[in-house]
Amino acid sequence: MVTTIDIARDNPNAKTIASTGASHLVGEEKPTLIGLSREELGEALGTIGVPQKQWRMRSSQLWHWLYVRGVSNFADMTNIAKDLRAKLDEAFTIARPKIVSEQISVDGTRKWLFQFPPRGAGNPVEVETVYIPEEGRGTLCVSSQVGCTLTCTFCHTGTQKLVRNLTSEEILSQILIARDRLGDFPDAHTPQGAIVPSEGRLVTNIVMMGMGEPLYNFENVKKALLIASDGDGLSLSKRRITLSTSGVVPEIFRTGDEIGCMLAISLHAVRDEDRDILVPINKKWNIKELLDACRNYPGLSNAKRITFEYVMLKDINDSNEDALELVRLLKGIPAKINLIPFNPWPGSQYACSDWERIEEFADIVNRAGYASPIRTPRGRDIFAACGQLKSTSERMRKKDRDALNAKKAAVY
Ligand code: SF4
Repeated sequence: MVTTIDIARDNPNAKTIASTGASHLVGEEKPTLIGLSREELGEALGTIGVPQKQWRMRSSQLWHWLYVRGVSNFADMTNIAKDLRAKLDEAFTIARPKIVSEQISVDGTRKWLFQFPPRGAGNPVEVETVYIPEEGRGTLCVSSQVGCTLTCTFCHTGTQKLVRNLTSEEILSQILIARDRLGDFPDAHTPQGAIVPSEGRLVTNIVMMGMGEPLYNFENVKKALLIASDGDGLSLSKRRITLSTSGVVPEIFRTGDEIGCMLAISLHAVRDEDRDILVPINKKWNIKELLDACRNYPGLSNAKRITFEYVMLKDINDSNEDALELVRLLKGIPAKINLIPFNPWPGSQYACSDWERIEEFADIVNRAGYASPIRTPRGRDIFAACGQLKSTSERMRKKDRDALNAKKAAVY
């Protein structure tokens, strides 16, 4: 059974949530304070007349309200003077994006469809974010782009053309709004019956494995993850943040050096001729170049291993020879191998390997000393499983965007 909540229709708080989102969309002219660095927050305060000597203190106050308390309304910032709150409200927004839908799987996995302003795409854009609860942890799978430029043939997102990159605000907002909906901020309440970890925080891990290639949106992803891991705010340990790339080799070192998070590689094949088809970016940076970059990943050690994702495709990449070659390729790299049973989507050309085949493959990899958990598919019934995310957003053609802008200009 799948539960789908159309937020705007069924939720008792629908009005508040929907109108908050709508005003954010309409009020695009108001810049957001979410996703700004502390320095940028200070500068933003300067634009509304806050003296420079107060920037640090005021930025810290805002930071606390935004990322520790999770408020989405200036009026709730009770230790900030009323007149300053009014000025902030006049000049800026901290509103959440619109939640288009929330789906809940039988296994407790939640998938949200969020809507953000067009920001050059013509129409508002939509992305999916997934929450996967497990014993002792809650993982949020975050998107970095609307659509994707890459066309990995086993991935549903790969069939959606890139609409645009998400901003740092939009990446962070996925975390904030998921925590809102789960009741994971102080004084908030977890929805009755929700499947969540039995104690502690409800969002404990972030994986940049949603829609898009995060390393093709490096600066925004970096900014968002540095804010997410800031110890005075959302305070997620960098060891609990994993960025997954299909293999954008030139950005891999920077990921470790400038973000310092854990790394995952969408490997999926052990020979270039196969990987060229499954993960076509391989034609640009082949397996050898990719693994060389992995060997040089800053901080790589047995305590900070790279995760290699390997989707199990029947008769494509699942033979014993493939498993042995995988072991040979990864020699010397502190690694963990995630075996992912293929999650079908409408129109996909592959089938999932048989369970016995996956187990035999896993045994070979295990015997070579690698942890190789077989990832239980989660949220398949709501199309929330790995490789299944896709939204219907499309970028308007330039001609239509120009016409729309001209129309707007005539109205204002
Ligand atoms: S696997 Fe990642 S990089 Fe490849 S098409 Fe899907 S979203 Fe894009």
